[in-house]
Amino acid sequence: MALLGRIWPMKLHTQILLGLILGAILGPLLGDLAIAIKPIGDAFINLLVMIVVPLVMASLIVGTASLGDLRKLGRIGLKTVGFYLVATALAVALGLAAAQTLNPGTGLDEDVKAAMLEDYAGVTAEQLERVRERPSISDLLVRIIPRNPFRAMAETNFLQIIFFSILFGVSLTLISEERRKPVLDFLNGVNDAMIVLVKLVMKVAPYGVFALIAAVAAQFGYGVLLTLLKYVLITIGTMVVFMVTFYPVCLRISGMSPLFFLKHYYEVIIFAFSTSSSNATLPLNLQVSEEELGVSNEVASFVLPLGATVNMNGTAIYQGVSTVFIAQVFGIDLGAADLLTVVLTATLASIGAAGVPGIGMVTLTIVLTQLGIPLEGIALVVGVERILDMSRTAVNVTGDTACAIWVAKSEGELEMPAGAAIAAT
Ligand code: ASP
Repeated sequence: MALLGRIWPMKLHTQILLGLILGAILGPLLGDLAIAIKPIGDAFINLLVMIVVPLVMASLIVGTASLGDLRKLGRIGLKTVGFYLVATALAVALGLAAAQTLNPGTGLDEDVKAAMLEDYAGVTAEQLERVRERPSISDLLVRIIPRNPFRAMAETNFLQIIFFSILFGVSLTLISEERRKPVLDFLNGVNDAMIVLVKLVMKVAPYGVFALIAAVAAQFGYGVLLTLLKYVLITIGTMVVFMVTFYPVCLRISGMSPLFFLKHYYEVIIFAFSTSSSNATLPLNLQVSEEELGVSNEVASFVLPLGATVNMNGTAIYQGVSTVFIAQVFGIDLGAADLLTVVLTATLASIGAAGVPGIGMVTLTIVLTQLGIPLEGIALVVGVERILDMSRTAVNVTGDTACAIWVAKSEGELEMPAGAAIAAT
């Protein structure tokens, strides 16, 4: 890529796209070598996750303190949570509707089903262990308050970090200017340095993305993919439909051209796809949303980290389709009340689930439990988990930014970049 870059100078996001395509093509050919270079990809994810806590804290505290007006903060909070709930519920409903009409679970051979349940029994047991630790909704609300903010930082617990940072920011506005200024100057410096660090780390992104995708492509079970092709196509197809309908509508309402958005945002989408982690994508998402899409720091620093935890539209679609798929394979009929339960449970289950790889499959077990569907059904979807995780993460982060743009526009916090307004394209 470096050599290619010298012969034919390319923008960084073109290089990242190239890393993705080359990784997908060369991964299976490289075989063990592709798996051997995976640590390069893991190191790259670590570099980004390393930045996320100081970046989010510094920018959210500064953002809250400079917003000044508590009512405005409340409004931004309500709009964000409202958007996230509506988008997530719509996404699950779309996933359910698609699966109910296209029937991904019919026609799966009995022998294939038995073999899959057998093959993945160990993985299922591990998932079941994890779901046992899930707190109840009221527990979750109490747990948003960190007893120790440093522990929240150490565990990258975004809901707790957001809670503490907002109160910290609000308290700063209540002390004297003389006391406030040095704290804000310091945090502004931290924020700026972290943004510079994101840009530095992004210089190696094409290699990181190549290593991650090559390893996935080399390890991928293409046999399982074929067996589950209908299920995979319906899940990804529904995500694509959501991407090309719901988000463009949100952008148009905000006055931004969807094409402009795509041109500036696709780097973030590729990135989320390669890393399978909304958390790891957050530093880049903050930078692109603020610098290229014109969302103010005050809005982005609140809406995006909250979205990384709470708003998972792709995961919601996945849960809708997968629930119907597993129920159909087991011959369980889902009535209207069951479908409503799926919408409610899947929406609530995504709150408090961190934006890290594989969490969507864990929250799927909550939905299945609620409906009394055998949890062993998870074994049926495990084989294609990675590719679906990558796809849903790409949708998840796009949803966060669509919300940030809408909230920013409605609060007069969107500085529309040149060429971004609908009329201009
Ligand atoms: N990996 C997804 C994310 O980070 C969550 C999921 O597993 O669905 O957004």
